[in-house]
Amino acid sequence: MDYYSSQISNLIEELARLPGIGSKTAQRLAFHIINMPEEQVERLSSSLISAKKNIHYCQVCCTLTDGELCPICASVKRNHRQIMVVENTRDLAAYEKTGKYEGVYHVLHGAISPMLGIGPADIRLKELLLRLQGEVDEVIIATNSSLEGEATAMYISKLVKPAGIKVTRIASGVPVGGDLEYIDEVTLLRALDGRVEL
Ligand code: ZN
Repeated sequence: MDYYSSQISNLIEELARLPGIGSKTAQRLAFHIINMPEEQVERLSSSLISAKKNIHYCQVCCTLTDGELCPICASVKRNHRQIMVVENTRDLAAYEKTGKYEGVYHVLHGAISPMLGIGPADIRLKELLLRLQGEVDEVIIATNSSLEGEATAMYISKLVKPAGIKVTRIASGVPVGGDLEYIDEVTLLRALDGRVEL
């Protein structure tokens, strides 16, 4: 990229580090940003920095939020005795979009993967076990149907069942290896309604 000045090259390089952004898209975005009004660029950069600075894990469910508790954990309208375990905040958002689930969540931020060297201690399992010491009626495991998601589901059910808590797994209507966030709402609700006890 020698034909661009170093500032432009830097911007393109930084953008190209983002997932799903190839070098062509990075170039297009860079020139778009350079042509944007300065106030708009400032809004974009300050929203990036303030999101990074102020967003952290919810103290209860570990989803990403900007308060101590996320709005779901803070809500009295939700059923706090029903916990749905998901791999990430995007999966949580997918279920929230259906507007039909009334329980709360637990976000693992990953799944167990021996191949990638990700063990139980690398995801937010300890926090889940702590919550189970309170009053919980059901743990719904909604990890992906990938190898890692299934391994994680098995691991959780083995941990939770001896505590006498009902453990269910969302139905296999969810395509194998499919990320929950890409699945339509009808399929998600069918998977939830058709969950089976482990
Ligand atoms: Zn929360």
